[in-house]
Amino acid sequence: MLVYVLSFPLNLYEYFYREHQYGFARQRFVPWFREQLIALGVALIIGTILLIVLYAVFRRAPRTWWIWGTIVAVLFLCAVTFIAPVYIEPLFNTYKPLSNPEIRDPIVAMARANEIPVKQVFEVDASHQTTRVSANVAGFLGTTRIALNDNLLKECTLPEIREVMAHEMGHYVLNHGAKLLTYFGIFILIGFALTCTLFDAAVRQWGAKWGVRGIADPAGLPLLVLILSTFIFVLTPFLNTVVRVTEREADAFGINTAREPDGMAEVALKLGAYRKLSPTPVEEFIFFDHPSGRARIRMAMDWKAANPPAGESTTAETRSPSP
Ligand SMILES: [Zn+2]
Repeated sequence: MLVYVLSFPLNLYEYFYREHQYGFARQRFVPWFREQLIALGVALIIGTILLIVLYAVFRRAPRTWWIWGTIVAVLFLCAVTFIAPVYIEPLFNTYKPLSNPEIRDPIVAMARANEIPVKQVFEVDASHQTTRVSANVAGFLGTTRIALNDNLLKECTLPEIREVMAHEMGHYVLNHGAKLLTYFGIFILIGFALTCTLFDAAVRQWGAKWGVRGIADPAGLPLLVLILSTFIFVLTPFLNTVVRVTEREADAFGINTAREPDGMAEVALKLGAYRKLSPTPVEEFIFFDHPSGRARIRMAMDWKAANPPAGESTTAETRSPSP
């Protein structure tokens, strides 16, 4: 709660005023603020449950909590990804099956060709909040769902939509949910181990002065939060890089499935509205959780050059017949 109140001015500036300045946001202040409060409520409920469970772990295993805590955190991430599409996302947006067969059928055909067990694609009404084009795969095990937003439907051609949806399918086929969970689990384990060492050292040094007895003492929560948030801040470029690598894999899957290099390049340009097209390598490493527009257009054109249309490869064969 306190964190929310303290970060509210930046939040307001970054996600309300800036978004309006650039013309992405469509919401007035009151509906925007209402959604902020709902998100805060959800975060408070989830955060409180997590803290209660973690403190139970701290009390039972004050020396090895970082191992058990990692297991708790990973299970928690699984549970949240499982319930989010069913219980959390409907609080903000409406998901309905995509009905236009001209768009739906080519998407479902690609899903079938890749053994993805979805029979329908969902359309999200994002246009009342933003003008941004986007799509996603959400959920885990039984709740997996492929969705695209209404801005994408309005602003993109069929080749572009197929390309975007093939990218999303790549996340599913390449098991990115499980892979990212594993990477995050490793980051959490390292983070908790470091936190355990630093926290104990700080308590030995200043514990008496601060009135903090040990990890299981709730008075140590601010110290715990300080250490963990510093770790997350330092880790940001690495987290972004792990995500960006899976995004590049999904791009490669997408182009091979949709076979729409021009569509891919066009979409990369459209995303340039909110993502710097040609960042420096350092900017890309620190801030980018997706490949840059330049990298994506490069990939699309490399693919196009390597995959000449069917007609041309037959001419090449007639010119140099095999022995
Ligand atoms: Zn993606």
